[in-house]
Amino acid sequence: MLGKHKLTLTRKTRLTEKVYLLSFSIDNDLVFKAGQYLIVDVPRDNEIVKRIYSIASSPKNKKELELIIEVVQNGVGSNYLVNLDLGDKINVQAPAGVFTLQKPLPNNIVFVVTGTGIAPVRSMIDHLLENKAQTKILLLWGLRYRDDVYLREEFQLKTLKNPNFSYYYCLSRETKQLTNKDFKQHRVDKCVNNLIKNGDKQLLSKVYFYVCGGRDAVVSLKNLIHSLGVGEKRVTSERF
Ligand SMILES: Cc1cc2nc3c(=O)[nH]c(=O)nc-3n(C[C@H](O)[C@H](O)[C@H](O)COP(=O)(O)OP(=O)(O)OC[C@H]3O[C@@H](n4cnc5c(N)ncnc54)[C@H](O)[C@@H]3O)c2cc1C
Repeated sequence: MLGKHKLTLTRKTRLTEKVYLLSFSIDNDLVFKAGQYLIVDVPRDNEIVKRIYSIASSPKNKKELELIIEVVQNGVGSNYLVNLDLGDKINVQAPAGVFTLQKPLPNNIVFVVTGTGIAPVRSMIDHLLENKAQTKILLLWGLRYRDDVYLREEFQLKTLKNPNFSYYYCLSRETKQLTNKDFKQHRVDKCVNNLIKNGDKQLLSKVYFYVCGGRDAVVSLKNLIHSLGVGEKRVTSERF
């Protein structure tokens, strides 16, 4: 059942022109599974409207959580959140959602995300790494330009500490030649296509895919993954 919670903004970090990382302290314990979301009360004129945001941090910390928010032009919810001041409180209902890690954990997981679809997946990756899961994890993250990239140092550090974890930023529109090994200069669907077509067939027959991001991207990525021979049961998704 959804509980009611008050969150207090404790830190606001601008990650790119449009994306913010917000940290909140939680008034009372909030128990959630990695990948779940909360429903935020957003004041608009004289009413309250609801908006959904995935929890972007690991469930280990029950006193604090993080959100990754992309500002949508004239968007009521996203602008409300990023314009909060430190110390401001918000009302939320949580936890909600079924985009969570399955049990038993698969031996191989590929996370395919676009934009802020990274939020629930960051929570899952942190959860897996904290618990020293013996799962091989690959993250393919679709963004448009080099300037849209965020959390890179964090993911670099994760790969250094965890040989089972690797990631690529798939930059669909960047025309400047980039030499960094963690950048691919094509769309995330091409990254997925290359992985499935050129990867180890035996390994791929056991991989589970978790797909998250914008509505259209998720539909077309799922179609692509299925068309390359991965069955329904091995793909879980969340559409923003
Ligand atoms: C399960 C789930 C999890 C989500 N998690 C996150 C998250 O972690 N981080 C996050 O930033 N968002 C997340 N979203 C999206 C979020 O719920 C809002 O839809 C988004 O922030 C826009 O809401 P808004 O109130 O700012 O804009 P609105 O006031 O609803 O919309 C304003 C205008 O922008 C257009 N618009 C709405 N959404 C978008 C969009 N995404 N891109 C372009 N134009 C748009 C509308 O058509 C409208 O014209 C999630 C959505 C779902 C369903």
